[in-house]
Amino acid sequence: MTTFRTSPGMRDLLGPEAARRRAFDRAFVSVVGAAGYEQIVPPILEDIGVFSRIGEATDVVSKEMYDFVDRGGRHVALRPEQTASVCRAFVEHRPSLPFKAWYSGPNFRYEKPQRGRQRQFDQVGVEVLGPDDPHADVEVIALGWDFLTSLGLGDVELVLNSLGDPEDRRRFTEAVGEYLTSRAGELSEQSRETMQRNPLRVLDSKRPEDASIISTAPRIEEFWSPEATAHFEAVRDGLDRIGVPWRLDGGLVRGLDYYRRTTFEFRSGALDSAQNALGGGGRYDGLVEDLGGPATPGIGFAIGVERTLIACDVESVFPVPNTGVEVFIVDTTGGSEALALATELRRAGHPVDRGFGARSMKAQMKAADRSGAALALIVGEDELASGTVTARFLRGDRPQEQWARSETTQRVAAALAEQRPPDTTES
Ligand code: AMP
Repeated sequence: MTTFRTSPGMRDLLGPEAARRRAFDRAFVSVVGAAGYEQIVPPILEDIGVFSRIGEATDVVSKEMYDFVDRGGRHVALRPEQTASVCRAFVEHRPSLPFKAWYSGPNFRYEKPQRGRQRQFDQVGVEVLGPDDPHADVEVIALGWDFLTSLGLGDVELVLNSLGDPEDRRRFTEAVGEYLTSRAGELSEQSRETMQRNPLRVLDSKRPEDASIISTAPRIEEFWSPEATAHFEAVRDGLDRIGVPWRLDGGLVRGLDYYRRTTFEFRSGALDSAQNALGGGGRYDGLVEDLGGPATPGIGFAIGVERTLIACDVESVFPVPNTGVEVFIVDTTGGSEALALATELRRAGHPVDRGFGARSMKAQMKAADRSGAALALIVGEDELASGTVTARFLRGDRPQEQWARSETTQRVAAALAEQRPPDTTES
């Protein structure tokens, strides 16, 4: 008999992990929603042209895309990231400026699967289209920072750089290309290959044999225009003003081609250095224009959900929320009382489960214990005859009580309110 498993680099999220994923989104929305960002939900699949604009020279586009020709003959791709989709949506709908949007959802990249690197992975992110103001950069960076710290993460570093204006970046890329060509013999084979397509990406190399060559490469700050310099200073001043710590790293170039001026990355000290970027972003220029819209500045970040949750595990923060049932109904009289009581309590907003199939008291109590419920409500023949239920407390040592059936919902609410620690249940 053939059995099936998830494809490599893809996985199922079951109960507790799925609950944690929802809690992650709630934490994100509470931070970005409070700053006036609205959700955007672009389709997962787009015309391949939307993504080619990210940069043909990037691995994401040239090697890792899930693309195919659909039944209508359109060349489409599963999105490898969402910034290009947001810009495509902006051009299509022309919302008013500034356009401040957040997203959360899966992306697809055909990468070699390993811990913290999957072929389907989730990102949460924001994009701001319109303002060129350095305070927009500060706002975006601060939201990413505040979100990560709101999860409880302590070992996170914000790394900053500026790629200058497009002309600065072009001159810098040329200088780096010339420099690397002069040292090509000493570079790793991989970097020699990368150098042909995208010299700046070599500066991201983590291979030991490349380290000394990278350390003496031309430095971006030598190429910044006065305007780009002033913009970057304002960004750093803004971050200082609101107490977001940062470190300058001239080697931070990031993978995608469309960045200019501010780029940044959130790195976790809790993860392996090869895989330590929780997320990052930067200012992009020309992307909206490339997609057929008016020249529109933009800035945003994307944070990888799986990798951030791994960092949370290492730091023992952001635990799986308590989403289980609170009340379990044990009915040995045939089940119709369980049906009525469960429905009544659920309609009053309490998470309730019950046994099925008229099983024995012992079997149902076992199920109640397994359910993690705080309270078992027992209905036997005696309770049925006297119009009561027996309340048995499954945590702590409170002795069992007999409640009038007609008061059960109120009594349950009062008992659970006493038991529940704040903030552990889903809202
Ligand atoms: P990028 O869109 O490449 O700038 O990536 C932003 C963040 O998304 C990274 O820092 C990771 O946390 C996450 N990410 C990117 N690619 C993957 C992947 N293949 N698997 C898991 N997370 C990823």
